[in-house]
Amino acid sequence: MIPFLDMKARHAPLRQEFLDAIAKVIDSGDFSGGAPVADFEKDFATYCGTAHAIAVGNGTEALWLTLLAMGIGPGDEVITVPMTFIATVEAIFMAGATPVFVDIDERTYTMAPEALESALSERTKAIIPVHLFGQIAEMEPILAFARKHGLRVIEDAAQAHGAEYKSSKAGAHGDAGCFSFYPAKNLGALGEGGAIVTGNADLADKLRMLRNHGQSRKNHHPVMGWNSRMDSIQAAVLRIKLRHLDSENRSRRGHARFYEAGLADLHGVTTPGCAVDRTHVYHLYVIRVRMREMIKDELAGKGISCGVHYPVPVHLQPACAGLGFRSGDFPISERCGEEFLSLPMFPELTQQQMGCVIQAVKQAIPACNAA
Ligand SMILES: *Cc1c(COP(=O)(O)O)cnc(C)c1O
Repeated sequence: MIPFLDMKARHAPLRQEFLDAIAKVIDSGDFSGGAPVADFEKDFATYCGTAHAIAVGNGTEALWLTLLAMGIGPGDEVITVPMTFIATVEAIFMAGATPVFVDIDERTYTMAPEALESALSERTKAIIPVHLFGQIAEMEPILAFARKHGLRVIEDAAQAHGAEYKSSKAGAHGDAGCFSFYPAKNLGALGEGGAIVTGNADLADKLRMLRNHGQSRKNHHPVMGWNSRMDSIQAAVLRIKLRHLDSENRSRRGHARFYEAGLADLHGVTTPGCAVDRTHVYHLYVIRVRMREMIKDELAGKGISCGVHYPVPVHLQPACAGLGFRSGDFPISERCGEEFLSLPMFPELTQQQMGCVIQAVKQAIPACNAA
């Protein structure tokens, strides 16, 4: 049996350290916000190379609160990609703004900057590039376009903790970078969590207010906010896990090279591309194959669990029906949705396990070509 993600293996070596940190939080009685959260924020900002980090309840709220803090709402348009987890688009909806989509690049699966021009309108206020699967979007042309048209840039970095583009980390490129610490992410809590990083002190202050009921000091609420505080146990755990993030990302890159060596020459398989100016952190290792469902079932029959991220691009989800998109609007995202297959990927994966996966894919491909 080869799991898609082995959570037990992920946490076994750090178990005692977690228990000690959790015991400390219990003894302190400081369960929400407080010192553990402030300490984690400091570490995470330093790690990302930004002046500020604001911890929040989850990644979806990180995106939503950032839009609110920027004053983006009804009547405004926000450009993003349809090939993403739905949370990117939910945040735009929940802020009251309208999502406008541009397709992805065929090789990196991130936002195609040349498509931005056609999505621009007088109402456009921001761009949310998504660092899909662990690779940062092509930020330079996106930032240049944003500067030219006076738009804000919010990085959806929920899948890209520690990834680099031209030597700067995910989250450090735009006006703000939003992260999720959902357990399965590269930096995952033992529960829910999220954060925003930014170099903008004013934006950071607004976010600190918004995540805590719009409160600037006790019993004083200049704006309506929300409760999106991180709990202290998650902050204490994340602080420990952050110290291991770089070495885990290196393991993921090593695994990607191993898969690449085994699969690159195989007719009918497209392995993930990474642009030369970027460091991929392989949150997911996603290949493209024809007859994906059949191959996925073949692998499942051999005890190998795969995932599909994401079979239906957001513009074709029933929740977006009101926007009036149809099939054919974003052809690259749609084709990728049919062909993407996520192979097992986590730092503790062994070469023996990957060898089995490669073997099983090799056996499944001819069967699929014959069908
Ligand atoms: C996971 C994820 C989110 C949402 O994060 P949550 O913590 O689950 O709310 C947003 N965007 C992308 C691309 C994600 O993968």
